[in-house]
Amino acid sequence: MIFRQLFDHQSSTYTYILGSRRGGEAMIIDAVIEHVDRYVQLLGELDLKLVKALDTHVHADHISGLGALRDRTRCITVMGCHSQVDVVSVRVEDGDKVDVEGISLRALYTPGHTDDSYCYHGVDRVFTGDTLLIRGTGRTDFQGGDPRAAYDSLFNKLLKLPDETLVYPAHDYRGETVSTVGEERAFNPRLQVGSADAYAEIMDGLDLPHLKMMDIAVPANLMIGANQLASGEECSLSVADVKKQIGRLDVVLVDLREDAGRRRHGVISGSLHAPYPDLDKFLAPGGVLHYEGRTGGKRILFYCAYGERSALAVATSKEAGLANVFHLLGGIDAWAEAGEPIEVID
Ligand code: FE
Repeated sequence: MIFRQLFDHQSSTYTYILGSRRGGEAMIIDAVIEHVDRYVQLLGELDLKLVKALDTHVHADHISGLGALRDRTRCITVMGCHSQVDVVSVRVEDGDKVDVEGISLRALYTPGHTDDSYCYHGVDRVFTGDTLLIRGTGRTDFQGGDPRAAYDSLFNKLLKLPDETLVYPAHDYRGETVSTVGEERAFNPRLQVGSADAYAEIMDGLDLPHLKMMDIAVPANLMIGANQLASGEECSLSVADVKKQIGRLDVVLVDLREDAGRRRHGVISGSLHAPYPDLDKFLAPGGVLHYEGRTGGKRILFYCAYGERSALAVATSKEAGLANVFHLLGGIDAWAEAGEPIEVID
């Protein structure tokens, strides 16, 4: 596995890059905006294609690199479904898988530090965000934090993982880089408590200073959505516009979501499935979108969950030489919101 732990000195944030092989797909966890150039450079040096960018929660101490990375690399943005961010490509729920080629992480909903905190568990390691730090835990006094919820997340989720599981946190302020679940259970001073009340007593007594960056970082991190009109207003269609075009023989409706999202939220009837990470293959000569769009001269109409991937797909398709390309603003979320029919699939 290709694994890199990168550090932001300003906010003491760790960012992780994971890939299974040179030349393959990669994901990044908790990117910091100031280092986006460096991430892109490193991904290039390692010959990795960034496919997914995850944030463990809405950060208060730095501005996330999620939006900038999406704009630079057209990667998929991923956050938990409890996050109040305006738009991401995928919102995961507890137990969902986040996959790239050769790597699969399981999302664990771990509220407490914030009410939107998720951890991501791979085979031998867990990315704990600010839920569990090395010999510490994340503060619980803002952003919907709750020490009792944190206790539950720590003791009933993270400490249930095998003792040898490597712990990679989102921060460290003393230069520690990695720990294990067993080590933290035994030696983390915050975890030497017998009840949620006892834990809450510790956390409520901390009297922590106000975070300087918070008033800047949180609002910025809530507004990371792609400009869905970026490829031109004329390429962006409302639900009503899309409705008029469905069923036309010269229109190919294309669903860009992955299987999990399609199963959970259903599909718009009559759509072709072209998962966004494989879009290049569909657009290349021999691919079905190349055939329908370029050879067949048909109109390609993309949709996804919230309109982010579809906006990026319009730009990618135009670069691939397709002229007649559109997308559904707001995705299937807007479609369902408007009361339009959804087809359930197995
Ligand atoms: Fe945090």
